[in-house]
Amino acid sequence: MEIERKRQIAILGSTGSIGTQTLQVVEEHPECFEVYALTANRRVDELIAQARKFLPEAVVIADESKYEQLKEALSDLPIKIYAGYEAICQIVEAKPIDVVVTAMVGFSGLRPTISAIKAGKAIALANKETMVVAGELINKLANEYQTPILPVDSEHSAIFQCLAGEAHNKIEKLILTASGGPFRTFTKEQLEKVTKEQALRHPNWSMGAKITIDSATMMNKGFEVMEAKWLFGVGAEDIEVVVHPQSVIHSMVQFRDGAVKAQLGTPDMRLPIMYALSYPTRLTSSWERLDFGKLSELTFEKPDMERFPNLQHAYDAIAMGGNMPCVVNAANEVCVAAFLQDKIGFTDMSRIIERAMQSASYQLKPSLDDYIETDSEVRKMVEAWI
Ligand code: MN
Repeated sequence: MEIERKRQIAILGSTGSIGTQTLQVVEEHPECFEVYALTANRRVDELIAQARKFLPEAVVIADESKYEQLKEALSDLPIKIYAGYEAICQIVEAKPIDVVVTAMVGFSGLRPTISAIKAGKAIALANKETMVVAGELINKLANEYQTPILPVDSEHSAIFQCLAGEAHNKIEKLILTASGGPFRTFTKEQLEKVTKEQALRHPNWSMGAKITIDSATMMNKGFEVMEAKWLFGVGAEDIEVVVHPQSVIHSMVQFRDGAVKAQLGTPDMRLPIMYALSYPTRLTSSWERLDFGKLSELTFEKPDMERFPNLQHAYDAIAMGGNMPCVVNAANEVCVAAFLQDKIGFTDMSRIIERAMQSASYQLKPSLDDYIETDSEVRKMVEAWI
């Protein structure tokens, strides 16, 4: 079975790691997908090259100072050019768009995702921070506007795939696998001295800088627990993290009869991206296959929350609920940026996040405006500490 008609796609964050891999999926199946809109934060040269190649209806650059350059470079083509964050929130509402791939980094993904849901677009969710910060609100809106949220994150895609045909069966437990990152075997003392160059070298996955650092601190896995809670309606006490350094099993679901289903594959983000775009159809792919003759072992271990306190912070934030996950996210975004600029050390990140959780004002029932306020307050507070 193939897809019944071409799907029109908007990619938010098209010049990032997920964005460029989404375009590779489009190239793999031009009979199924067409690019309607591309948006980027500030990498204007890459955006120009993508626009010339994929000929979307519209492109948006968030950084308004790059507007003239973008317009000039594409002046011979019938492409609409916009600039600014508001334009990103608006372009997703364009009528022909079927699916919006939310691949921008961090909190900035929240408002465009909300506009896309309100416009009735399917969301291919790559921006996990949206669910971390405001999962409850996003779920409510997706319900109200009857829009599907299709996970792109490999673990959540794995769970989503394991749940195909299981709609009426109760989930007993979700088992999220984690590679453990580059410092899985480091002692506390070794972790103190980790450099950004070391942290940016992920053993299995090739990803953007923010998520690579989040993986090294295990903040990423904490966020994925939150993401799983909202996507699949499972309490955090029924979401287990298991370190699996080979990254072959992408995650698992345990049902009430004790059966465990897993999805396996090579660590290649193009598969979960393509599944989100073509769901419920599986399309052909030319990519590398798992070779069981070469897989010598699959190993599993418990995560160590003492050496990687961010995972514990995430579970604590889920237990508190309200705006606390938003606090953790904002503090983490500032910390990762500071670490990448050599302003703070690797282990400072989790200490600062903990302090932010103790210092921020807590709200049990936040509105969208409250989230926006929490985000900006926590950023200011943490920046002042750094
Ligand atoms: Mn993931």
